[in-house]
Amino acid sequence: MTDEDLTPERAHAPVLRFMSAVTRCADTTTAVQTAAELVSELLRAEAGAAVVGRSRAVAGTGALAEVVEADGEVAGCGGHRLVAAWHAGTSGRLVVVRTGEPFTEEDGRLLRTLAEALGMALDLIDELERGARQQLLLGVLLEVQRAISHREPLATILTAITQGAREVLRGWPVTLLLDEDDVSTITGPAVPAGAVTLEVPVHVHGVPSGALVAVPPEGTTPGPVERDLLQAFAEHASLALTEARTFEAMEEAFWDPVTGLPTRQLLVDRLRRTPPDSPGTALLLVHLNRFAAVNDVLGRAAGDELLRLVTERLTACAGPDATVARFGGGEFGFLLTDASPGEAEATARTVVRALEEPFTVLGTLVHVGAAIGVAHRAPHESAEDLLSNADVARFRARAAGSGAVVTYDAQMRAALLDRIELQAHLQTALDRRELVLHYQPIVELDTGRSTGVEALLRWTHPSRGTIPPSDFIPIAEVTGAIVPIGRWVLETACRQVARWRTVDPDLTMNVNVSAHQLRDPGFPEDVRRALEEAGLPGSALILEITESALLEDDEQTLEGLRALKELGVAVALDDFGTGYSALGYLRRFPVDILKIDKSFVSGEGTEEDGDQLVRTIIELGRAYRLEVVAEGIEDEEQRRRLMALGCRVGQGFHFGRPTDDSGIEARLATVHPLVPRPRRRLSPA
Ligand code: C2E
Ligand code: MG
Ligand code: MG
Repeated sequence: MTDEDLTPERAHAPVLRFMSAVTRCADTTTAVQTAAELVSELLRAEAGAAVVGRSRAVAGTGALAEVVEADGEVAGCGGHRLVAAWHAGTSGRLVVVRTGEPFTEEDGRLLRTLAEALGMALDLIDELERGARQQLLLGVLLEVQRAISHREPLATILTAITQGAREVLRGWPVTLLLDEDDVSTITGPAVPAGAVTLEVPVHVHGVPSGALVAVPPEGTTPGPVERDLLQAFAEHASLALTEARTFEAMEEAFWDPVTGLPTRQLLVDRLRRTPPDSPGTALLLVHLNRFAAVNDVLGRAAGDELLRLVTERLTACAGPDATVARFGGGEFGFLLTDASPGEAEATARTVVRALEEPFTVLGTLVHVGAAIGVAHRAPHESAEDLLSNADVARFRARAAGSGAVVTYDAQMRAALLDRIELQAHLQTALDRRELVLHYQPIVELDTGRSTGVEALLRWTHPSRGTIPPSDFIPIAEVTGAIVPIGRWVLETACRQVARWRTVDPDLTMNVNVSAHQLRDPGFPEDVRRALEEAGLPGSALILEITESALLEDDEQTLEGLRALKELGVAVALDDFGTGYSALGYLRRFPVDILKIDKSFVSGEGTEEDGDQLVRTIIELGRAYRLEVVAEGIEDEEQRRRLMALGCRVGQGFHFGRPTDDSGIEARLATVHPLVPRPRRRLSPA
């Protein structure tokens, strides 16, 4: 705007010119300076001043300007002073000084109008300035928000916050002080001791955790505007810190610290993101055998090292579309997103083979092996369904033993539920008197005399009827229920045979013992007490164990067996020939009897094959001075053949099915009346 643009009314011209010049200024300081210059010009004064709050601008030179500057007396210099003040929004005053002609009333009116115009202009500038600051604030905060949502490093975000606040607060130094000692506790310049500060609290997860501190320049008192601005930044700092802590916690939940693999949670998260109808999604659940043993025996460091070595092999087996995760303990998950059923199983077998190779863990050679459950995602099955199916398959694979790969099918779940139901029920079967012992005679093949009986456990389930031991003994072993049940079997069988020995004093009792019982350090004592309470010598009892029980844990098993031998109890190897047949243990363990498994006697194999095996076992018995008993003799032909092969003792349906005690009593009374017979020797000379 120029003078020519102004209204022709001359009286208004100076006011408009003043107004236009002052409002064109970007900030208060420039406006005040411009006002001082213009006012002295318009009132033909040698010096002029504008005073607003603490700021004062002076125009003009010479002695008068100095006087105005100092607010001093003008009369001494022969000058005249005119002052006009305004009080609206801001308040202040305009001062002009001149020598010569004194100021007229007209001059006084003009200066008052100019003062009011300056007041209005300053209010306007203030408003505009606030708007600009608001604009700046928004820009800076948007930038901070972007950094938070892009998960930029926390330090970068916090620096952006302190620098942004400084910018918006017109250069006031801003510092973030945090109470925590686990993070860098200060962002921004150090706060000078004793300085007047403006402080706003910062929260992490809603808990006060520090403060955002601004230091105004000396002499400036911070007002509510500055507090509000700092508050906005403090809120952003709180948000950034809370987000970062949450993310850290999530990171921990998503990545396994030992192996660096994703966790179960992350794998499930990925699984949930795959569309439910995408074909080719399969989950492999890998159970590492003997991981707990490595941890217990070699220590945690070895356990961790083993996990890392296993991770290397697993990732080597994983194709580009596989996610390998650690589920915890010795459990791993393999998520395949583009695999046919055949490919998933092939991957599982590759993994099993890879884990069968021994590991060198902190200098010790360790064999682990694995069992794997596989499940394929059917269309529209949820992530949880797939996990649960894979779990069922893994459960089956573990039961099947090391190296097993089992793929889920629907019947498996029913069987598992059944098993769980049975498991719960079995815990109370003993108290409810649902368990009974049946007995099967063990006879001399030539005379048919009973030399002893084998106790065989039966469970009469209230709704399912009789459950065979093969269905519930493995469950009892898993839950540990086999220990009290086994103790009951021992006591009952000992009491029973003690009664029968009043009729046949040489009758012996065979009791089956599971691996779990044999490992129980209290077992020899249980046997001793059962014998004592029944008033039996140790020689009345024969404990039947399987080959696998001997392979479980050498030293402890050997200890237990030795303790049993001291009681005079005999030990029979049951189902002989079906196990590992690592015959070294025949010499190592104190065994007295071999029981040839019924599959070689009445099984499906050819007669010649069976005969060959039976002959070998009999020869083995002879070499190690062990008695050999044939199981499962079902007809006369089999009895004759076994005798021809050199077997002297056996049991089977041909001589009698397992029956309750009354059946055996009747048999003892009729088939073997009270006829004394020579004592049988366990080990032929
Ligand atoms: P086992 O000790 O080898 O018992 C012999 C099994 O063969 C018994 O099966 C018996 O009924 C069956 N058997 C006897 N003669 C013949 C025959 O001529 N032909 C055929 N096909 N089978 C015959 P059961 O009673 O079902 O017992 C199965 C297994 O359960 C036993 O095998 C034993 O390992 C285990 N068991 C039984 N009672 C107990 C017990 O009290 N404790 C433990 N730990 N295990 C037990
Ligand atoms: Mg047996
Ligand atoms: Mg057997």
